[in-house]
Amino acid sequence: MRWRDLLAGELRKEHVGQRLALAGWAATRRDHGGLVFIDLRDESGLAQLVINPERAPDAAGVAHGVRNEFVIRAEGEVAARAPEAVNPNLPTGEVELQVDELEIVSRSEPLPFQLDEENVDEGLRLRYRYLDLRRERMQRNLRLAAAVFAAIRRFMDSKGFVDVWTPNLTRATPEGARDFVVPVRLQPGRFFALPQSPQLFKQTLMVAGIGRYYQLAVCFRDEDLRADRQFEFRQLDLELSFPTRDEIFDTLEGAVAASFEALGREVPARPFRRLTWHEAMARYGSDKPDLRFGLELHDATEVTRGSEFKVFSGAASVQYLNVPQELSRAELASLEELAKEWGGKGLAYVVFDDEGEVRSPIAKFLSEEELEAFRPETPGATILFGADEPGTVARVLSAIRNHLGRELGLIDESRDEFLWVTEFPLFEWDEDGKRWTFSHHPFTGVRPGDEDLIDSDPGAAISQAYDLVWNGWELGSGSIRIHDPELQRRVFRAMGIGEEDAQEKFGFLLEVLRMGAPPHGGFALGLERFVALLAGEQNIREVVAFPKTASGSEPLTGAPTPIAQEVLAELGIQLLPQED
Ligand code: ASP
Repeated sequence: MRWRDLLAGELRKEHVGQRLALAGWAATRRDHGGLVFIDLRDESGLAQLVINPERAPDAAGVAHGVRNEFVIRAEGEVAARAPEAVNPNLPTGEVELQVDELEIVSRSEPLPFQLDEENVDEGLRLRYRYLDLRRERMQRNLRLAAAVFAAIRRFMDSKGFVDVWTPNLTRATPEGARDFVVPVRLQPGRFFALPQSPQLFKQTLMVAGIGRYYQLAVCFRDEDLRADRQFEFRQLDLELSFPTRDEIFDTLEGAVAASFEALGREVPARPFRRLTWHEAMARYGSDKPDLRFGLELHDATEVTRGSEFKVFSGAASVQYLNVPQELSRAELASLEELAKEWGGKGLAYVVFDDEGEVRSPIAKFLSEEELEAFRPETPGATILFGADEPGTVARVLSAIRNHLGRELGLIDESRDEFLWVTEFPLFEWDEDGKRWTFSHHPFTGVRPGDEDLIDSDPGAAISQAYDLVWNGWELGSGSIRIHDPELQRRVFRAMGIGEEDAQEKFGFLLEVLRMGAPPHGGFALGLERFVALLAGEQNIREVVAFPKTASGSEPLTGAPTPIAQEVLAELGIQLLPQED
């Protein structure tokens, strides 16, 4: 027996008069005094079944027992709907199946939520993910993801990139997160790390002569989960030998364009814009600025050096935003809260009203010269200040900028702004460890000419790293790598990784680099983020079939779970008492 002759969503006028079978879920059932209507749903869409007790008394009996989400099979004749019954919103809305035989294939308990219910609690959605995934939105998202993955594969294959699988049980790859570790029964006391990325393998593949590598790689990072972060995620991971930076950019732009094309969307203009890290920080306070709106930062450090307002004159950096609107006290208070959330001490402001009059608790401390410097070209504006260490000012003002961009409707949603951010610093100062650490990863190349700064002035050394940003989301990063083992050693040293330590952790890499390493570089594009943005979703959980909750659990299976004492013993593991 064939379960079905056609997919429900494919039913059209041309099938009128044909006898055929459909199978799927009962999305809704309506009793109309004798006649029963069932919307049968499968992966392609909906079709209407009509069960008429005069035509098919047995089927009508079965139909009365059908409940939402029962799996059913119906056989019958396709008929045109009467003109007044045509549903123009449904692709199958001109026809229906006049049912002769109806079978309940599988029953369903009453559902914990209805599939057409809005705002279902996310915990409940994830607990019953298989029901949630039946919904149109999730079906659309998963299919969109698949289309993007296929387009990227086609594109990378066409450019001569070789798909190579790299291990998931491996050594730690430092990407700035904690590792997930896996105990090894055969070697108690030893652990594999799940890769934070295939970074060292892809570099090794370049030394191995692969030339162009790519992989839709799964990466694992033990860090706090957020709207754009899961413990495990996939990335378009790629590496090229003898690359120029432009070649790498061009490859990524091509992959992005191929994805847009696959979805029938207008391909963003290429080449993508570029900003140096320095410029991005100065103008937007962020290394991932949303360029769909202006509201840039302005520097007021110089003009406030002699300020009577000590918060300004005592701060290493004073910057401001010129908001083209008079903000109310309540709005200012809530912005101040936001500033505090991002590490600011407060939020100084000056309102210039429509007449150009100044309203501000700090105005009395500001000189004429200062006020003139801040005075906006068009009155009716609010100047918001950040005064602190440069990093804090940038963080706070960029958070406010993004917030106001949304709140004041400054964002032009019809635009897609892709941006390369380049020339990142090679190192960052780690306040906790009181040492320099990598800002990208330890294998990132140094800007030619900056080599000596590695030892003499690490903070000033610029790297060959770059990020790709789309509408304020960081899609991924990459760099031209270090291929000289000596230089790699110097970088390790600058980060306080001694010779022995380097040998112990990265000895294999240093060896690989000594055996004929070509210049190489690459990139990794976070696929869930990319797909989420393509799908218009704010949270990557909406494009992942079985994501973890914010607390790191997987509600469907209940993972993670404790494991049996014997299993632990076999692995040579003893647990410390846990606090509840
Ligand atoms: N391994 C880096 C990452 O996962 C990307 C790269 O440098 O290619 O972010």
